[in-house]
Amino acid sequence: MQLDQATAEKLQQWERDLNAEYEQLQSRSLNLDLTRGKPSAEQLSLSNAMDGILAGDYTSADGTDTRNYGGIDGIKEMKRLGAEILQVDDGEVLVGGNSSLTLMFQAVLHAYLFGFDGPQSAWSRQQPVQFVCPVPGYDRHFAICEQLGIEMLTVPMTAAGPDMDALENLVRNDPAIKGLWCVPKYSNPTGAVYSAAVVERIAGLGRIAGAGFRVFWDNAYAVHDLGDTPAALASIMDCCRKQGTEDSVIQFASTSKITFAGAGVAFMAASAANLNAFKGSLGIATIGPDKVNQLRHARLFPSLAALHDHMRKHAQIIKPRFACVLDQLEAAFGHCDLGRWESGSGGYFISFSTRPGLAAEVVRLAAAAGVKLTPAGATFPYGRDPDDSNIRIAPTVPNVAELDTAMQVFVICVKLASVRQAIA
Ligand code: PLP
Repeated sequence: MQLDQATAEKLQQWERDLNAEYEQLQSRSLNLDLTRGKPSAEQLSLSNAMDGILAGDYTSADGTDTRNYGGIDGIKEMKRLGAEILQVDDGEVLVGGNSSLTLMFQAVLHAYLFGFDGPQSAWSRQQPVQFVCPVPGYDRHFAICEQLGIEMLTVPMTAAGPDMDALENLVRNDPAIKGLWCVPKYSNPTGAVYSAAVVERIAGLGRIAGAGFRVFWDNAYAVHDLGDTPAALASIMDCCRKQGTEDSVIQFASTSKITFAGAGVAFMAASAANLNAFKGSLGIATIGPDKVNQLRHARLFPSLAALHDHMRKHAQIIKPRFACVLDQLEAAFGHCDLGRWESGSGGYFISFSTRPGLAAEVVRLAAAAGVKLTPAGATFPYGRDPDDSNIRIAPTVPNVAELDTAMQVFVICVKLASVRQAIA
């Protein structure tokens, strides 16, 4: 379908045909959901062995009774696992509760209210406070900034990570910039993996940024490979050590999409100075995390190799779903300019871009045909995509047959919206 070369009659004809197809799909009263990046029930079931795995033995390797209070930074065996996932030393890891997002919120809040370098360094003492957000990005990162009144500036994502020239330029010239959000591996939503050169340059931001600057390195998809040859991500902490910027990066990960999304274990990794400062305020909020759940995870994953074996089972379940979406996109848009898409060899999302000005309309049309999509704009700060173009597709929850139907609807909606725009 080449819209720009089509005559007015041809466009009208396409509109009538597509509308007929759309109404036919609408009459099926579908109820399908491609919104949130959640694991499917089959994926969750891979971890059912955790139920009862302790068999009455609640003692961790160093003799701690995990049922009791205490241990603000988690049990040793999970620190080891977190350290391996995030490529840091065991002593640089704090093991938390079920959500890395909670740790991110608490870390930003700590920096804002109390300061990682003492009370004088609290961001709230200086206004405005700004973050840089590579776009498209993760809506819940943006929500944390919005909640605290932190202004968000954007830089474009490339296939190798954020546009570093733009990012360095902002950070160097604006001391109000206190933070940067990053999803370095299989980025949400484009699937990009940051190149070694980008990781190196991000590790160097601490030298050119104003005081109190922190990179929030959300490695949510560190082990979520779909292919047989996992993408390599350079260790940011190693890069920081070389440049003397260890305090400028705080890392996060979790087992939310490894075991149970609602009952996993979260990790934070940071320099000793940052961890100590953070524990100071965390220790006011809690006497300690759920160590029993941490021990259940440690027994399920006695090594990183065991965790990788487990992730290969996830990949077997998810791969056909990604393939279904990608095949349909290729068939529909591979040879025309109605849409572009990006997807990594891992993670949870496919990022689709319509022609400018159509994302909200596509989402509206799909919803009216029973297919729920992530709201247009969600991948941008304040929910505002300046091009109204990006749509995040999350293919893990529906089965392949459902996805196939949902994508038929999606394709028709993109074509219909595009043809109508060309007519208007
Ligand atoms: N970070 C990213 C980039 C995500 O995509 C998600 C969930 O979709 C999360 C964090 C949430 O992590 P958690 O369940 O550990 O809070």
